[in-house]
Amino acid sequence: MSAIRVENLTKRYGETVALDDVSFEIEEGEFVVVLGISGSGKSTLLRCINGLAAPTEGAVYVQDEPVTSHRNDVSMVFQQHNVIEGMSAYSNALTGALSRADYLESVLRFNDREDKIRALEALETVGLLDEAEQRAGRMSGGQQQRVGIARALVQESDILLADEPVASLDPGSAQTVMGYLRTAAEQRGLTAMISLHQVNLARQFGQRFIGLADGKLVFDGYGD
Ligand code: ADP
Ligand code: ADP
Repeated sequence: MSAIRVENLTKRYGETVALDDVSFEIEEGEFVVVLGISGSGKSTLLRCINGLAAPTEGAVYVQDEPVTSHRNDVSMVFQQHNVIEGMSAYSNALTGALSRADYLESVLRFNDREDKIRALEALETVGLLDEAEQRAGRMSGGQQQRVGIARALVQESDILLADEPVASLDPGSAQTVMGYLRTAAEQRGLTAMISLHQVNLARQFGQRFIGLADGKLVFDGYGD
């Protein structure tokens, strides 16, 4: 079973070809960096994998099942707005549990002891256990992204996608956040796809590299 399989994926928005006949397969536990400049199709690719966008042609499979609608078992960290600023880091992390439950169940979930423990463990994984009670809005950009990662970890998906998670951060914070992402994926045995536009960061943290240019797959390989 492959974790993610993309077959001849083409995505068009009107005249724009966002993805052009892209194919690859990712095994469970791989840490993949999707590298490309702005507009190369990175975001569209990740959105097709979690079902937020639908292929125009081709198909995407997650754990051998075709992706036909939004999948809760694929968690995603975005470039920005991963936290609710008025809530503590801990409460933000805990909201990850809600995506695993339906609406009624979610009310109970919020008080589920196991979920509370998961939220604290996730904060520990991203180095924010001591900041658990801090309001997310008062935290730095890098810390907020780490809270967003903790939230994604609490979802307990096998697959973690991150769409330019460090694009809005200064270089130092970007490194720190990438380090936590890599460690979290390793510790939990996740399959991860992280999109980046910075080659140096990709080199430093990637295991496998998928390169996109104008929607085409131009590179797929492993680092040394
Ligand atoms: P990246 O994430 O690498 O910046 P995107 O996947 O966001 O690239 O975009 C790829 C191309 O598709 C761009 O030309 C972009 O403008 C276009 N595009 C992406 N999403 C949409 C959309 N929802 N509607 C129209 N065009 C889009
Ligand atoms: P779908 O998932 O059905 O492909 P999206 O959710 O990607 O559609 O996009 C919804 C709408 O948001 C698009 O029709 C477009 O008008 C707008 N949009 C989002 N991102 C972009 C972009 N990068 N460039 C242009 N329009 C965009």
